[in-house]
Amino acid sequence: MELWLIERHTDRLSLNVKVEKTVYREKTRYQDLAIVDTYEFGRALILDGVIQTTERDEFIYHEMLAHVPLHVHTNPERVLVIGGGDGGTIREVLRHPTVKEAHLVEIDEAVVRACTTYMPSISCALSDPRVRVIIDDGVEFVKDKAGEYDAVLVDSTDPSGPSLGLFNVEFYSNVARVLRDGGVFAAQTEQPFFEPDLVRRIFHMISQAFPVARPYLATIPTYSSWSWCFTFASKGEHAENVMPTRCTGLRYYSREVHLASFALPPFMHHLFEQDVATG
Ligand code: SAM
Repeated sequence: MELWLIERHTDRLSLNVKVEKTVYREKTRYQDLAIVDTYEFGRALILDGVIQTTERDEFIYHEMLAHVPLHVHTNPERVLVIGGGDGGTIREVLRHPTVKEAHLVEIDEAVVRACTTYMPSISCALSDPRVRVIIDDGVEFVKDKAGEYDAVLVDSTDPSGPSLGLFNVEFYSNVARVLRDGGVFAAQTEQPFFEPDLVRRIFHMISQAFPVARPYLATIPTYSSWSWCFTFASKGEHAENVMPTRCTGLRYYSREVHLASFALPPFMHHLFEQDVATG
């Protein structure tokens, strides 16, 4: 008997991934969590039927979410990651020798527990002494803080259920306040090919909270439609002002990839209007 993971990208399009075995399954307080071994992508974390991260291609997403903003900042010492319970983004954050503290605010402790047990290549940095794992709602966590972090990275699920509150102007404005002077922000902001209106809405909400907002792209094999959008934002720092690469062990991010990721194809420009050019 064959076992296949069928991930629906639209009502008429799905990604089918052949599964060797189910490693772990739990109905958590927030979502249906599964960890499966796939033939093509190795071990994968699935939340509510959506592939979150796989051993084979996770480095692309985690490097691009972490290293684009952190290489714009001249000296990131204190970083906040919201979501990201698998630990991949935290692992990349700690590659920066300047980082002294990395706080992870993840709403579902089951994700941290399961990935720590079953996906050590991704969760390995969660036990680092510089890391503090806080089980909390990221929406609430930023409400009563100001000027505490050099970078805030939002590594969330798609906007539904508990992550819905991470995609609105109030949250982005709270994040802007949580950032220190010179602070930087980045978030995964969905996929522009099949969800252009969603990507447009998210970008413009971020633009209302930050004077500088710039979309950038990466190609992630297990994410729907080939191209994934992230958004960089700051209160003044520009995405092109890139520090020399200060990390080792990178497999996707480089200074050239950083700069190229902000060069959007013309068919996407209208989503971001003139902001793309003046960014
Ligand atoms: N790092 C993965 C990837 O490569 O795409 C994806 C994201 S990570 C697994 C998404 C996490 O966001 C989930 O663990 C989910 O529980 C968490 N999350 C969703 N809403 C949240 C909220 N309001 N506060 C904190 N964490 C949240």
